[in-house]
Amino acid sequence: MAGAPLTPGSTIGILGGGQLGRMLAVAAIQLGYRVIGYGPAGDNVAASSCDEFIEKGWGEKDALADFASRCDVVTWEFENVPLTAVEAIPEIMLAPHPRALAIAQDRLSEKRFVEDLGARCAPYSRVESDDDFTRAVESVGAPGILKTARDGYDGKGQWRIPTLHEAQGIRFPGRPCIYEGMVGFETEFSVILVRGKDGEVRFWDSSANTHDGGMLVHSVLPAGDLVESQVDEARKIAAQTAEKLKYVGVLTLEFFATKQGPIFNEMAPRVHNSGHWTIEGAATSQFENHIRAIAGLPLGGTATRFASVDMRNIVGNDALSAHRILGEAGEPHLHLYGKREAHEGRKMGHVTRVSHDVGRDLP
Ligand code: AMP
Repeated sequence: MAGAPLTPGSTIGILGGGQLGRMLAVAAIQLGYRVIGYGPAGDNVAASSCDEFIEKGWGEKDALADFASRCDVVTWEFENVPLTAVEAIPEIMLAPHPRALAIAQDRLSEKRFVEDLGARCAPYSRVESDDDFTRAVESVGAPGILKTARDGYDGKGQWRIPTLHEAQGIRFPGRPCIYEGMVGFETEFSVILVRGKDGEVRFWDSSANTHDGGMLVHSVLPAGDLVESQVDEARKIAAQTAEKLKYVGVLTLEFFATKQGPIFNEMAPRVHNSGHWTIEGAATSQFENHIRAIAGLPLGGTATRFASVDMRNIVGNDALSAHRILGEAGEPHLHLYGKREAHEGRKMGHVTRVSHDVGRDLP
């Protein structure tokens, strides 16, 4: 995948059909590329933003090969794309390199990877049986969280264990897990970077993030003094991660800001929900810079353009009345993803508010 930048009219392939794919496709099309999406049948909201969307399963090797043969570069918007599907695509066409996916798909391997780079993690233990779980709770203690090692997202595949006593009522879920000690954090923040093919790395400002039931609901900038005092250390880990993986594209690492310093939680080898604010709030959005990076174009500036930025997710049925937001003060920027069903806990859209005033009380 070395060589000259992709010329206008070239084709970018995106694995996965969710909202991240939709926003990536919009950015790619704006830069003059064609986009072909690929993903299993379902509510593929990226499809309407792609020139073409192939609804085929991850196991359909011929369809994947045909998809790849019509693309110039292939990326993903969804980190749980099975590696076997990614392996059906010539490695030279993939950006980022699939090694990033292999590491980030497994909570144990991503923690070991960043620990090797000197990052702190919450105490954790691998759990592959009821006995492992008992031992893990004894050694790590409670409160804690049992998480499936693979395929979890937005708080799914997680069980909170408030006390040792309550651990007795929980059975091993039958899939490899890790048990993690609960971190008493002050706030959470993410480091989002883009790395170009030439190795240049740029960071966006870090937002302070709030989760509810394991799902991101709110990101805000400025992130506050504690986060700002820990961002350099967290960026160093993120940059080393990107360098070691020879990463190309947008990479996200999530941290807990604690009194003892930043504690790594997890990484996402893709654009991230906590970076949606960059569409209106930064010189270049995470989506555009991901496309620029994988296409070999110069990276865009990542500076924040406003004194304060606030991004809130629109979840479940709230989407049905989301247009009322447009009537609110402060020029809210509404993004609805066009999902057909608004079930509880499903991310349906987001709204970003920007202001030139620091500390303005954004709703
Ligand atoms: P994850 O899927 O690991 O990103 O977890 C989702 C969210 O659950 C995090 O962003 C936190 O809000 C919360 N969480 C996960 N792990 C921990 C932990 N070890 N300690 C405290 N909160 C956690």
